[in-house]
Amino acid sequence: MENSGEPTIFDKIVAKEIPATVIYEDNLCLAFRDVAPQAKTHFLVIPKIRAGLTRLSNAEEEHKALLGHLLFTAQRVAKDEGLGEGFRVVINDGVQGCQSVYHLHLHVLGGQQLTWPPG
Ligand code: 5GP
Repeated sequence: MENSGEPTIFDKIVAKEIPATVIYEDNLCLAFRDVAPQAKTHFLVIPKIRAGLTRLSNAEEEHKALLGHLLFTAQRVAKDEGLGEGFRVVINDGVQGCQSVYHLHLHVLGGQQLTWPPG
């Protein structure tokens, strides 16, 4: 359920209040392994500051540069993770998109042959 006020579990990971396996970090974003991986390699890329980006469909003009940075970072970390044969980037949005954490995040999945279409 969307909650724009309270800190999310991802805010707590950014604040290092709860542990995560961080694989990349810069001033704008953090990449860490998903706690319940859906592929051999599954990590998340999140903005450090939500800044209204609880979900992709809340994006405004002011978020364009950050959104580009997150996507660029996803492919860069994918390369570092050895996903040169390919990978998938997913953003779940809202109830019908099966979003469960309302802090924008990119899923990066790979390390094996994936199938299509998703459910
Ligand atoms: P969503 O369903 O919102 O697109 O994805 C949320 C993702 O966050 C899920 O894949 C879930 O496994 C992951 N996740 C939820 N809580 C935690 C946590 O505390 N640590 C980590 N590393 N991943 C989490």
